Amino acid sequence: MTNLTPSPSPSSASAASHSFNDLPLPPGILSTLQQLEYLTMTPIQAASLPIALAGHDLIAQAKTGSGKTAAFALALLTRLNPRRFAVQAMVLCPTRELADQVTQEIRRLARFADNIKVVALCGGTPMRPQINSLEHGAHIVVGTPGRIIDHLGRGSLNLDALNTLVLDEADRMLDMGFYDDIAYVATRCPAERQTLLFSATYPDGIARLARQFLRKPQEVKLLEQHDDSKIRQRFYEVKPEERLQAVGLLLKHYRPVSTLAFCNTRQQCRDLLEVLHAQGIHALALHGDLEQRERDQVLIQFANRSCSVLVATDLAARGLDIAQLEAVINVDVTPDPEIHIHRIGRTGRADQDGWALSLCSPADQRRVAAIAQIMGSEPEWHELGELQNGNDSPLVPPMVTLQILGGRKEKIRPGDVLGALTGEAGFTREQVGKITVTDLSTYVAVARNIASVAVRKLSAGKVKGKTVKVRALED
Ligand code: ADP
Ligand code: MG
Repeated sequence: MTNLTPSPSPSSASAASHSFNDLPLPPGILSTLQQLEYLTMTPIQAASLPIALAGHDLIAQAKTGSGKTAAFALALLTRLNPRRFAVQAMVLCPTRELADQVTQEIRRLARFADNIKVVALCGGTPMRPQINSLEHGAHIVVGTPGRIIDHLGRGSLNLDALNTLVLDEADRMLDMGFYDDIAYVATRCPAERQTLLFSATYPDGIARLARQFLRKPQEVKLLEQHDDSKIRQRFYEVKPEERLQAVGLLLKHYRPVSTLAFCNTRQQCRDLLEVLHAQGIHALALHGDLEQRERDQVLIQFANRSCSVLVATDLAARGLDIAQLEAVINVDVTPDPEIHIHRIGRTGRADQDGWALSLCSPADQRRVAAIAQIMGSEPEWHELGELQNGNDSPLVPPMVTLQILGGRKEKIRPGDVLGALTGEAGFTREQVGKITVTDLSTYVAVARNIASVAVRKLSAGKVKGKTVKVRALED
């Protein structure tokens, strides 16, 4: 488990209790938390909830995966009046997929009251259904700045009753150039409100945003400190021209099921992808040029273990919550040691061990020294020559993703697909992996050795009483 240690300065985390029961939360919420098995607060929740529940503005900084969503969701749900049919809280997120994650988490936490409506307002999806949902009365809206501005312009979103504004993943929104959009949305909110700002890092723009839109904010900053027993970090010295080939050597040696490979530039991502593909490794890249649907498909394939390597820049990977990640490879060493710590903190989550492997040319030595200094430990150096690839069998992901045409619009649910595969098609529960339903498609991971049979059987049979088109996503 990753340790989060409160910085000595403004945080009150060290003194805080870690039981939700000690907070002034309604009984319905407390029992929901129990059902969800949220038994204790995460450190960022323990540090920020007392402040947020007391009504103060807040700036909270903690790494990805630390439970920031519940930290603000519990605060806004506690204040919400379900009998008042008006938007009382709004969460701004940088991307649709983050907004979707937040929407789902708020809905889960809002289960105690069955009449709380949470509406996602994101670009890339039709306006009309969103307008309809708003007309039927939404309590909470979660969305991307551009689409929220569209709704404000059309008059379909009224913020007069708003009492809580949340800026989630604020650093990423700033990276994406949303400063002016956020500023505009904030000026359209009632002045009398609580503003909560959450961020994984603390670039300069955050202070500016806070000065302009937060009132006497209290700050909670939890610096990362990884537990060495979970993240095993190794540095490999490479010549610049060996760098991309070395990634394949690491993968074949360590054989992680899922690896996130960080490059400093998009060009490097493209070059690496080419090299990995030439080596027969199942790799995909996450970059800004992808359309939303393509981006969804990349993330789904990576999360369900049918793609071995996700190649990304820091910008493209920020905010992603990936549960199981055996390795992070720093193809390039980042000049910012805090970013390095953030990168490697993606692995070694929960009870799993993780590898953090960095490729360093002689010119990177100063960056490594800066990292070693902030981590307070000597780098462990290794040589590429140690990587004996006695195991020359290809690195193949355990699963294959099947795409079924038909999704939420057709009212398909994960259980329908699981039922089709384990029922008539005769597969076992263990051969079926993650099932993801999107608006128009459903993606199901199946064990690699049954993939083609599964495509045939699903195409011949029925899902939810209907014949469906199915294909394997494999290039
Ligand atoms: P962040 O926004 O900081 O990146 P998330 O809010 O996405 O992190 O939370 C990461 C994961 O931790 C989610 O799957 C969430 O359901 C889970 N989680 C959050 N709070 C708790 C808790 N108190 N106990 C157990 N799991 C939690
Ligand atoms: Mg988050």
